[in-house]
Amino acid sequence: MARAGLSHLPSVDHLLLSATGVELVKDHGRQTVVDAIRLTLQNARENVIDGQPAPVANALMQQVSALLREQTKPSLRPVFNLTGTVLHTNLGRAPLPASAIARMVEVASRPSNLEYDLGTGERGDRDVHIEALIVEITGAEAATVVNNNAAAVLLTLNTLAQNRAVPVSRGELVEIGGAFRIPDIMGRAGCRLVEVGTTNRTHLDDYRRAITDETALLMKVHTSNYHISGFTKSVTEDQLAELAHAHQLAMVTDLGSGTLIDLTRYGLPYEPTAQEAIRQGADIVTFSGDKLLGGPQAGIIIGKRDLIGRIKANPMKRALRVDKLTLAALFEVLKLYRDPDSLAIHLPTLRWLSRSVGSIRETAIQVEQPLRRRLDGIGTVAIEPCLSQIGSGSLPVERLPSCAVVIRPTDARDSTLTSISLAFRRLPIPVIGRLHDGAFMLDLRTLEESAEFIHQLSHLSLP
Ligand SMILES: *Cc1c(COP(=O)(O)O)cnc(C)c1O
Repeated sequence: MARAGLSHLPSVDHLLLSATGVELVKDHGRQTVVDAIRLTLQNARENVIDGQPAPVANALMQQVSALLREQTKPSLRPVFNLTGTVLHTNLGRAPLPASAIARMVEVASRPSNLEYDLGTGERGDRDVHIEALIVEITGAEAATVVNNNAAAVLLTLNTLAQNRAVPVSRGELVEIGGAFRIPDIMGRAGCRLVEVGTTNRTHLDDYRRAITDETALLMKVHTSNYHISGFTKSVTEDQLAELAHAHQLAMVTDLGSGTLIDLTRYGLPYEPTAQEAIRQGADIVTFSGDKLLGGPQAGIIIGKRDLIGRIKANPMKRALRVDKLTLAALFEVLKLYRDPDSLAIHLPTLRWLSRSVGSIRETAIQVEQPLRRRLDGIGTVAIEPCLSQIGSGSLPVERLPSCAVVIRPTDARDSTLTSISLAFRRLPIPVIGRLHDGAFMLDLRTLEESAEFIHQLSHLSLP
């Protein structure tokens, strides 16, 4: 009886030549659509054998469309980062300013003079496109750029300290996360770590005693993602630079975040700048492009011309170099730093970090009612003060006063809370919040597209 229904199923060719079939072939190509139709028909056949009626051609083609949509959905997608951590490494760190995106599109669309000297008609150097601007902003003699700051540290150490010793304070042997640990990186760079001082206290004499004929350079690592307080002592950059130079050694600082501007002028906590590190005597300073700088993923190396020259000449530079899109974006981001007065308008990271609680509260008020309507009977919605953090290991102790919408399940069950947060992650543009104290919190500091946020709430599929 059931098997007889199989003869009612349309053929592959019949479906392929339907109006929907023709449209899908234009978008996906014939073979892909044929494969999707076969898979859909196979499912239908099994259902018919199980006793279900044979679906009509239209219904089958809707399934084929849905299947192709699912297959071509990009895995990497935008999300709303409402976690309260502004520079979230797992959520892509810094969003780029419009000018940087436009420049990337331009350079991506056509051939460019990436490594071509338009004056001589000969091979050029890709660093020329950003080096002058970095030098102008930081006051360093020279600069180069690699894939990320981890690469910048690796390349610097491999160039300047291979097969030699590098003293580092025990208080600065940091792990950044994602398997970046200073001792491991030093091993991979081919240099020998010499631990000096203790976790909480390191003196200049500790470094002095560690210097031998083997020593390549002295290094300072910015303890970006943690803070040691209490009975502590560390050596300042200028003291360490003075000691290094007295022994004809280079002094290298890994700044991590490496902001290029005094953040206190935007009402933010103080963070050492790359310019200061250079002024204090560092010969090489490395920092990230996509942390506080607010640009694309990159590692920026600035410092003395001869040392930068050696770093550029290391064959590993070729393996760690940035692509043209990064250079295009970085150039536009750095350009914004020439006008500090408008930086907090155009650079999304700084705009978010310096946003006033009043402005964040206004956004909270906009989304509160739509959320309450959607969550009626499932959870309560309230506007509450909260604290954001900068993230990506920048200023780990500092918190920025902010404002959140806080959703608490009416039945106070953990499973309901989990389902609510999952429903938000399943939205067309997934919303990532924070679970805290029996509530699902959305820190609205980083929400600018509130109309889009509200609009997609109709897709929220709640328990
Ligand atoms: C973040 C950080 C790094 C790694 O930088 P990436 O750009 O993430 O590769 C290295 N050192 C310090 C001190 C950092 O804070």
